[in-house]
Amino acid sequence: MKNLGYYNGRCDEIENVLIPMYDRACFFGDGIYDATCSRNHRIFALDEHVDRFFSSAELLAIDLPCTKQELKDLLNDLVKKMDSGENFVYFQATRGGGPVRNHTFTEGAKANLWVNMFHKPMMDIYKKITLITLEDTRFFHCNIKTINLIPAVVAAEKAKQAGCFEAVLHRSGRVTEGSHSNVHIIKDGTLITAPLDNLILPGIARKHIIKACGVLGIPVEERPYQVEDLFAADEILVSSASTMCLSAEELDGKSVGGKAPELLKKLQDYLMEEFLNETAE
Ligand code: PLP
Repeated sequence: MKNLGYYNGRCDEIENVLIPMYDRACFFGDGIYDATCSRNHRIFALDEHVDRFFSSAELLAIDLPCTKQELKDLLNDLVKKMDSGENFVYFQATRGGGPVRNHTFTEGAKANLWVNMFHKPMMDIYKKITLITLEDTRFFHCNIKTINLIPAVVAAEKAKQAGCFEAVLHRSGRVTEGSHSNVHIIKDGTLITAPLDNLILPGIARKHIIKACGVLGIPVEERPYQVEDLFAADEILVSSASTMCLSAEELDGKSVGGKAPELLKKLQDYLMEEFLNETAE
């Protein structure tokens, strides 16, 4: 298949998969999701993404219709149907309910399970990116991967309009994360990244970066930092499942980073090798 849509057991090319209007995604954005990528039809870091999916569901009391193992089996089966081995692998669950629109939950209703896959080659991890900063106008549940993404969508679009790859969000100067990524800096040989709280998503790529730093002997500080620290950083890193660990050369039109190229390459090489090994044929 060139792309794939799945909804509650029905699977077809996405253009042919219709969703009931009463799905709570339509009325309330009442759902959670997760996303990763595949290579050679092997899904990267699947256990971790499925664990986070279940934890997002639990935090919103969404009753998933399957076990973790059943979900992994389903995703592994579906990815094999794809023509390409390199895909974006997306799954989401919306709270069960309907057909009447009602804010409150429908007792005992199991969630609806969605899957979407399409061909997407991995980005070149060594390519430099450009960024803008924007005030973070999202809510205070950013640790949950919900499908309520309006401020993130608007921020990503503003970055695109500015000719940039990503928007770095901050709350009154304190850097939180990107519109669809985590953001980190390297300063004097140390990786600094925002702490895990309700202001950021616990990114899987972030976790892999921290683990890699441990192996490579790079100290890590998980603590708040400010927009001015971005400008003063030796490197600015942006991470997500599909970008892994990109570095920036420009922020708000000013030159940034490029001051710790060897350390950066060591980290990127390690992450790339891990990805290639885990998704080898
Ligand atoms: N932060 C936000 C707001 C995101 O949307 C994402 C990815 O979608 C990330 C961080 C990175 O998370 P991960 O590394 O698990 O892809």
